[in-house]
Amino acid sequence: MHPLIIAIDGFSSCGKSTFAKAIAQKLGYAYIDTGAMYRAVTLFALQNGMINNGSINLPELTSRLDDLHITFRRNRETGQNEAFLNDVCVERDIRTIAVSDAVSEISAIKEVRRKLVSLQQAMGKDKAIVMDGRDVGTDVFPDADIKIFMTASPEVRTQRRYDELIQKGMSAGWEEISRNLAKRDRIDQTREESPLRQAPDAIVLDNSSMTPDEQMAWFEDLLKTLPVHRKCS
Ligand code: C5P
Repeated sequence: MHPLIIAIDGFSSCGKSTFAKAIAQKLGYAYIDTGAMYRAVTLFALQNGMINNGSINLPELTSRLDDLHITFRRNRETGQNEAFLNDVCVERDIRTIAVSDAVSEISAIKEVRRKLVSLQQAMGKDKAIVMDGRDVGTDVFPDADIKIFMTASPEVRTQRRYDELIQKGMSAGWEEISRNLAKRDRIDQTREESPLRQAPDAIVLDNSSMTPDEQMAWFEDLLKTLPVHRKCS
């Protein structure tokens, strides 16, 4: 099979990154978490006092975008990719509620999106990549070989995010998480620049009541039905 670009988009906390990582591991592909990149920009803005009482200092942020160097490096112990901001590992700091609260406003800024989309396109230029986010199948790689649009019920998504934070030893309140997910989805769907929407040629996966193994079996079945697979087998 020739190397593919696999785009996975969908709502917040519906298990996109877990699924994307599993697919990348199965196929021996690179995995890129584009949400981590928007979170890293948000962390940078918070750390540099560019967000005060919810208001963003746009001129300051846009003028400093060139100072931002976002990369992913593999952690040899865990085998997982971790996000680095200007050579500092920020994998944990980008998952806090403070970052989650501001990330969708930061992600709606045109200049931020343009910078990150071009970085993501460069990361995928050799294909053999699984990328997850909100606009991967619509804007980053509109010609992706496989596009999956993931969704799950709000209750399931809140529970997953809650479990994830608790597992990482971070504090979390169910109500606060639920409000944050709803807010992010609303901003992500209604922003002007590359809003979250299902690409017309994306295949929907509602994983509300599916285990990781069932999702992988679903993906394997999907792979068999694709012309891209038939062409090469
Ligand atoms: O995927 P994750 O929930 O970590 O993404 C954090 C936020 O980053 C999303 O709520 C969304 O506002 C933004 N995002 C985006 N475009 C992407 C990926 C994430 O706008 N491709």
